[in-house]
Amino acid sequence: MGGGEMKYIQQAFEQNWIVPLGPNVDAFETELGQMAGADHVAALSSGTSAIHLALIMLDVKPGDFVIGSSYTFSATVNPIAYQCAIPVLVDSEEETWNMDSELLEEAIQSLKSESLKSKGQLPKAIIVTHLYGMPAKMDEIMAVAERYGIPVIEDAAEALGSKYKGEPVGNRGKFGILSFNGNKIITTSGGGALISSDEAMIKRARFLSTQARDPAPHYQHSAIGYNYRMSNVVAGIGRGQLEVLQDRINRRREINRWYRSVVGDTPGIIFHTEPSADFYSNYWLTCILVDPKVTGITSGQLRLAFEAENIEVRPLWKPMHLQPVFAECPAYVNGTSEKFFNNGLCLPSGTGLKDEDFERIEEVLRRELKISQ
Ligand SMILES: *Cc1c(COP(=O)(O)O)cnc(C)c1O
Repeated sequence: MGGGEMKYIQQAFEQNWIVPLGPNVDAFETELGQMAGADHVAALSSGTSAIHLALIMLDVKPGDFVIGSSYTFSATVNPIAYQCAIPVLVDSEEETWNMDSELLEEAIQSLKSESLKSKGQLPKAIIVTHLYGMPAKMDEIMAVAERYGIPVIEDAAEALGSKYKGEPVGNRGKFGILSFNGNKIITTSGGGALISSDEAMIKRARFLSTQARDPAPHYQHSAIGYNYRMSNVVAGIGRGQLEVLQDRINRRREINRWYRSVVGDTPGIIFHTEPSADFYSNYWLTCILVDPKVTGITSGQLRLAFEAENIEVRPLWKPMHLQPVFAECPAYVNGTSEKFFNNGLCLPSGTGLKDEDFERIEEVLRRELKISQ
């Protein structure tokens, strides 16, 4: 926690706003909009619920196709299944590790020819993830999406504070989604947000997220509602966390620079890196690829070497097209994300890391990668 959270939680208790609406929710939406460069914000119970509502508002129905990044966390793709629609998974390019725009176009072309045969429709939406905080190549992706008139949802759950061409991510597409889950760069314990420049859509999201109550003195419903709104207590945590967001980003970027200074240009180690000055990553997690032919050690062996010192290092996300639950889904793959999964690691990146932690991490890195002082 950043320190300012209790003040807002206290206010919620003093004012007795212990409900999924109230002054903290309103203020959090305004303050988050300023930080995330978003015109309109709906504070929700999770990033997953934000994706779900975006799909509902884009009229995704059973049997529809929705394209998603294959290289992501499952929460990007699960809401497609909630709508009984069909996830179509698109692999990554090498630079940002995010959705490959050429493969995206290939997927759309092939779905288009199938749709002509079956008199079906083009994909209803494209969900593109900014993974580990790294912005996707949005110019290229938006150009393809616009050519076919398909709305884009930006999954910026891991990328709050990241920028593409100087602009906060999440604002190029029709919708952006954010997450404040416990593992993200800032947290409300659990929570999320939907952002958009379309005010009517955000109002609709607030309506749907509070059980879709029509304006009437009694309980009247003409749409299916959801219980997806953020609680006023949780929004208080969020307001306190926003006060330290920039510090957190600075620290994560500093940790990323520290790893680079230790590992230097050790052959066979590749960092997940901003391809150019157009990309500004919050470096939520510092990630590397290990080429065992060059380093003489696999990513798995390196992970176990850390584990032996009681240091947790994790494999990278396993792509969705390799997950048993999505095995039947159409997928357009080029081997990139599979290679990342087989050779990659997330290094300890938390802002709570202390000097002695870095010493222990450095020792393992130097020993296992044979880096001299
Ligand atoms: C965390 C995460 C989500 C889901 O957010 P929740 O708030 O946990 O529901 C979605 N997409 C990605 C890429 C994530 O990392």
